[in-house]
Amino acid sequence: MKPPPFDYHGPVTLGEALDVLAEAGPGGKVLAGGQSLIPLLNMRLAAPAHIVDVNRVPGLDGIEAGPVGVRVGALARHAAVERSPQAAAVLPLLRQALRLVAHPVIRNRGTVVGSLVHADPAAEMPAVLALLGGSVRLASRDGEREVPAAEFFTGPMESAVRPGELAVSAFFPALPPRSGTAFHEVARRHGDYAVAGVAAAVTLGEDLRVAAARVACVSVGPVPVVVDVTPACGPGPAAGADWEAVAGAVRDRVDPEGDIHATADYRRHLTGVLAARALRDAAFAARGEES
Ligand SMILES: Cc1cc2nc3c(=O)[nH]c(=O)nc-3n(C[C@H](O)[C@H](O)[C@H](O)COP(=O)(O)OP(=O)(O)OC[C@H]3O[C@@H](n4cnc5c(N)ncnc54)[C@H](O)[C@@H]3O)c2cc1C
Repeated sequence: MKPPPFDYHGPVTLGEALDVLAEAGPGGKVLAGGQSLIPLLNMRLAAPAHIVDVNRVPGLDGIEAGPVGVRVGALARHAAVERSPQAAAVLPLLRQALRLVAHPVIRNRGTVVGSLVHADPAAEMPAVLALLGGSVRLASRDGEREVPAAEFFTGPMESAVRPGELAVSAFFPALPPRSGTAFHEVARRHGDYAVAGVAAAVTLGEDLRVAAARVACVSVGPVPVVVDVTPACGPGPAAGADWEAVAGAVRDRVDPEGDIHATADYRRHLTGVLAARALRDAAFAARGEES
C-alpha cells in the first residue's frame, strides 16, 4: 500500500526542526531511520499530517563513550553503535543487544534513539536502557528535559515524547567495576522480533559475591520488565549461585500475553530459561571469564 498524504519537511538545523515540530503539534512525526515509521505509513497504521525528516540536521549522529557511560545521538544508526569499539569497551551490552536487532540492512538505517521512541515492547534497546537506568534527552522550542528510562516507556509503542519534541540523544550509564552483562532471546528466525528475551547485568563485590543482579525482559509485558534479583542470589560466592533458582523469581514476576507466536505459559517458561542463561553469562563476564 501507499502511505496517506502528508507534508514533508526537511529542516537543516536543529532550531528549524524544533520550529517545524512545534507548528505541526500532534500532527507531526519525526522521520529518523524510517525502519518502523515507513512500514506503519505504508500499512496505513499511522497518518501524520507532517513528516519532519531530521536526517539533514547536523550534529545528531554522535556517539560519545566515556567512563560514566555512552551518549548516543538521534541519528546514530544501530550499526554505527554496534561497531563502535569505544562504546563496546564501556558497555559491551550495547553490542550484545544490537546484534539481535533485525537484520544488517535495517541496522544500517535504523537508529537507537528511534527504537527507544518507538517503544516496541519486543525491541532490545528499550530493555537495555531500562536495565541500565539510562535516560533520553528531549528538546523542544521551550527547552530540554532529560527523562529517566523508568518514566520514558509508558505503554506498548508509547513513550514520554510529547508533540513538538525531538529526542536528541539517549544516555546509557556505565556499570561499576566487576560487572558483566549478557542478552539472550528466542526468535522464530534470527533477526525477527523476539518471542521472549532477557538482558542481564551482574556486579560482584571484591569478595566475588553478588553485589547487584538485575534483568530486563522483552516481549512479556507492555514495557520492558525490570526485575532486581539481588536478594534471590543469596550470600554465597557468585561462582556457586543457583541461577535457575534465581531465575524463578523472574518467571514469577512476568505476566506475558499469548498471541499467534506463543502462548503466555510458553513465554513465561522461556523467560525463566533465558534469565538463568543471561544471569550465568553475566556473572561469568563479571569474573572476567568467557561463558
Ligand atoms: C523487518 C524489520 C525487522 C525489525 N526487527 C527488529 C528487532 O528485532 N528488534 C528491534 O528492536 N527493532 C526491529 N526493527 C525496528 C528497527 O530497529 C527500527 O530501526 C526502529 O524501531 C526505529 O528506528 P528508526 O530510526 O528506523 O525510527 P523511525 O522509523 O524513523 O521512527 C519510528 C518512530 O519513532 C519516532 N522517532 C524516531 N526518531 C525520533 C526522534 N529522534 N525524536 C522523536 N521521535 C522520533 C518516529 O516519529 C516514529 O514514530 C525491525 C524493523 C523491520 C523493518
